[in-house]
Amino acid sequence: MPPETVEVRRSARRRRTVSAYRDGDKTIVLLPAGLSTTDEEQWVRRMLDRLAAKEQRRRPSDDDLLERASELSARYLDGKAVPESVRWVENQLHRWGSCTPDHGTIRLSVRLRGMPAWVVDYVIMHELVHLLVPSHGPRFWALVERYPRAERARGFLEGFSMAANGSTEEC
Ligand SMILES: [Zn+2]
Repeated sequence: MPPETVEVRRSARRRRTVSAYRDGDKTIVLLPAGLSTTDEEQWVRRMLDRLAAKEQRRRPSDDDLLERASELSARYLDGKAVPESVRWVENQLHRWGSCTPDHGTIRLSVRLRGMPAWVVDYVIMHELVHLLVPSHGPRFWALVERYPRAERARGFLEGFSMAANGSTEEC
């Protein structure tokens, strides 16, 4: 990774709040005017750490995904779906997720990266249920609906697909 470009902007109008965000390959840190150099350095470091932690939560690793899948199964499926692996894949452009029930493997499209955790959890949940029920019948949906934000997540993904390609996609 190239070194991070950090731009610090001070505002006299900004009294208490400190914030940071990415703008292309730059990171902008907004600080109130009048901080000492030492305070400024500490705040910048703290804000960069916070931003990185937030992004990490939004970009879970394969191991994080497997842990989340196991938690979802325990919480909503009485632990009956037993995932062996959950991983991100690049070559899945028309589906959000897929699975191989015989092996307990689940794959998620990298396009889900950066989406809210509850949306990614929905797709994991959907694939977990497929480990138990292959087809999209009433039994399938009854299990999926145990995840409280299932409907909202479906709406979110449909809206996203419509905006991106003018059609919806299934998993
Ligand atoms: Zn499905």
